[in-house]
Amino acid sequence: MLKEYTGAALDLFFPNYCLACQKHFKHYAGIENLLCWECWQDIKKNTPPFCQRCGRHLANAHLENLCANCRKHTLFFDRAFSPCLYTGITEKLIHCLKYNSQEHLADCLAGLIIDFIKDYGLPPLEYFDMFMPIPLYKSKLREREFNQAELIAAALAKNFGLALNSTTLVRVRNTQTQTQLNEGQRFANIKGCFSLRNPQAIKDKMIILVDDVLTTGATCSEAARLLKENGAQGVYVLTVAS
Ligand SMILES: [Zn+2]
Ligand SMILES: [Zn+2]
Repeated sequence: MLKEYTGAALDLFFPNYCLACQKHFKHYAGIENLLCWECWQDIKKNTPPFCQRCGRHLANAHLENLCANCRKHTLFFDRAFSPCLYTGITEKLIHCLKYNSQEHLADCLAGLIIDFIKDYGLPPLEYFDMFMPIPLYKSKLREREFNQAELIAAALAKNFGLALNSTTLVRVRNTQTQTQLNEGQRFANIKGCFSLRNPQAIKDKMIILVDDVLTTGATCSEAARLLKENGAQGVYVLTVAS
């Protein structure tokens, strides 16, 4: 009884419940009332200078313009950008989106990308034709009921008034979950897993691939390789975190 009463009082005075630290809080914290101010402030951001390929922060930008990962692997996309590091609060939010079916989170995570684009003018959207989400394999889509990358891409397309193309790029082979694999295995695992339906739709187009997370870049690189082989003019990548 007392517990119920306390809960109701908390809801009344502190109507918001922080997704990251599970505390009730009162004030709007910038990400659609999902995070308390402390957690909102605790989101780790990617800051310039950015690696010219993957967009991660470069510690020694005066010596090089590619990070160690990008010097080691051939990545087929032109450039990638992510507002956040894949750690802490951001990792938690992305996990909630993917595995707890919290679809409303997609808009909030897209909001982090939107802020980044406005802050840095990167990527320069005026040169691009469409956002294109990394597709899920059909059995995985059935299981999860939504594609988190598509929800984020749709929110970006709506916000910037750019086209959303979620039909041309398709996943034709199911892949082992990348999280279990080392770097080399990730690149081998993903090879040949995409196909294009109506390749004419991407000929000479500037495309921004959208996904939730960029780790080795293997998935986006494979999609970019196929798109460019079929005539795409340029392929950039946007993810929430990297
Ligand atoms: Zn919190
Ligand atoms: Zn890099």
